[in-house]
Amino acid sequence: MSLQGSPVKVYIRIRPTANFAHELIECLPDQQTLRVRWSRRDSKKGKRNNHLSSWLFQLNGVLHNVSQEDVYDHVARSVVLGVFGGYNGTIMCFGQTGAGKTYTMTGAAETYKQRGIIPRALQEVFQEVEHRVDHTFSVHLSFLEIYNETMVDLLSSIKQGKGSHSGILTVVEEPGGGVSVKGLSLHLVHNEEEALNLLFEGEMNRIIGEHALNKHSSRSHCIFTIHIESRSRTLSDAKYITSKLNLVDLAGSERLSKTGSEGQVQTEAMYINKSLSFLEQVILALADSRREHVPFRQSKLTHALKDSLGGNCNTVLVANIYGEGAQIEETLSTLRFATRMK
Ligand code: ADP
Ligand code: MG
Repeated sequence: MSLQGSPVKVYIRIRPTANFAHELIECLPDQQTLRVRWSRRDSKKGKRNNHLSSWLFQLNGVLHNVSQEDVYDHVARSVVLGVFGGYNGTIMCFGQTGAGKTYTMTGAAETYKQRGIIPRALQEVFQEVEHRVDHTFSVHLSFLEIYNETMVDLLSSIKQGKGSHSGILTVVEEPGGGVSVKGLSLHLVHNEEEALNLLFEGEMNRIIGEHALNKHSSRSHCIFTIHIESRSRTLSDAKYITSKLNLVDLAGSERLSKTGSEGQVQTEAMYINKSLSFLEQVILALADSRREHVPFRQSKLTHALKDSLGGNCNTVLVANIYGEGAQIEETLSTLRFATRMK
């Protein structure tokens, strides 16, 4: 079940728009290549020049005009099922604010059809739990937010979480190579409905925290984790096996304009830039078999995901982009990041 080649599968999802710039962004028939052509006009010494540039970006797949269901089937299902084979998994959404990360990960609340990867993964997990009668399972959820390198438990307000305490959350390494977040609450859930309620609670807490701290949700990373513990019913000496699925809504990757931002916004941007570049360093190090040291501990994000990236894990990155010409600079920067990861 482990995905072959690069440790990360990278997909591009283009946000649908009436102003889709076909002349700018073109998906080639292989559905894995994007061509971007950009004609930039500048005027120097009174003369107008057109600079035409063209780039090809190779990905594992381009998702354009694709339903939420198809996105799940295409990028998420194998990772979710992999968890039942004992493989940890991570699915991350990357891109500038407004490009569709949260829509892809969580979905729109309005309609059932627009559910994103998390609710669909929860549905599939409980279906599997029901079907696999030869095993007993327990499913726990946790919901972690990382804002300016500080970790926040989005489910700490809910009673009966195991492992929660009021101190500072820290990533701890376990003897077998795993990691866990000390102080982060884990919540036992018995069915899809209970799980969805917790997802909803966590999102509410994210919004409440946002107002309290005057921050915008697009400035933090969020990791929703499904922890699955299973044990064979047929083997008398069977051990418990624990696997994790991390569903990650990354902070907006947009760069700051050099002027007009200060204080809090600048601090946030610095933390985001750093953590995204550490994420890249980790993935590049994982791809390079000669590298012995992978710098997981440089950021909370990579440290918390240490046992669920690369190696024996299934890792997927969905890079969300706008289809409009007005966003082309950020789109190019997202596409460059995405191709470096592949
Ligand atoms: P981000 O989380 O990257 O900041 P959002 O997911 O919040 O962006 O998307 C911004 C807006 O665009 C939301 O209103 C969302 O519902 C809408 N949107 C994004 N992607 C799609 C899509 N593929 N189809 C329909 N609406 C979308
Ligand atoms: Mg968002």
